[in-house]
Amino acid sequence: MDIFSIAAQLLLGWLIADFLSGLAHWIEDRVLWVGMPLISRSIVEPNRLHHRDPQAFLYQTVLARNSTTWGAVLAIALPWLWIAGFSWIWLGAVAGGLAVTEVHVRTHRAVVRTSWYRALQDIGIVQSRVHHVGHHADPMDSRYCILTDWLNPLLDRARLWARLERGLETIGLTPNRGTA
Ligand SMILES: [Zn+2]
Ligand SMILES: [Zn+2]
Repeated sequence: MDIFSIAAQLLLGWLIADFLSGLAHWIEDRVLWVGMPLISRSIVEPNRLHHRDPQAFLYQTVLARNSTTWGAVLAIALPWLWIAGFSWIWLGAVAGGLAVTEVHVRTHRAVVRTSWYRALQDIGIVQSRVHHVGHHADPMDSRYCILTDWLNPLLDRARLWARLERGLETIGLTPNRGTA
């Protein structure tokens, strides 16, 4: 296999991780609620805190702010490896899943000091600060993906999240507004 095909497969995996980050984030914002059994403290409350105070997670330890996501990544990655075997797509997706929270952290830092990382943000292969600000703007109903700058414009234009919300209403659920 040539290097271009490996790179393309790694990139595809990275974009799969970006999409899953958006889906998980949409579910956190719109479907889950504070006080849910089992997952309120580990998933819903950190999400609501991030919307109220986007800087708060910058002051947590790397382990504290990543542990839930890393657990979820392993829960998907291990069965995927077991069933389908190793692939470069799998590796790209796992790398994206493991990196996503730290990428998110760097969209909230006032200054990113590392120049190579800033270059990656400029390309959009890791999400940039200007792009992510769009999610935190009222009414907080777009740009759910948090790994790259690339999928959100496509998904928002396709109105994917609005359609999913209508799907919730069709089955009798009221979408949460990401605050309760
Ligand atoms: Zn959100
Ligand atoms: Zn954020």
